[in-house]
Amino acid sequence: MAPSDDFLGVPGYWTLEDLARSGQVVMFECSHCTHTKILDIPALARKHGPQTRVNFFKRNMPCPRCGKTGMA
Ligand SMILES: [Zn+2]
Repeated sequence: MAPSDDFLGVPGYWTLEDLARSGQVVMFECSHCTHTKILDIPALARKHGPQTRVNFFKRNMPCPRCGKTGMA
């Protein structure tokens, strides 16, 4: 839980529930094809659970365009 461990502009230790409560819009940018999309937080919470940490998606966010996973 280092302070530098941010992801997409929010602290990486935040859960999806924290994110939903904050009302913050989070933009995902694929590091492979630069595709961007606004994250659908309620949909992610339904799929992965509201206690999932934002950091989880650093490595587990599949790109809807190129299908690759992660922000490497
Ligand atoms: Zn992509």
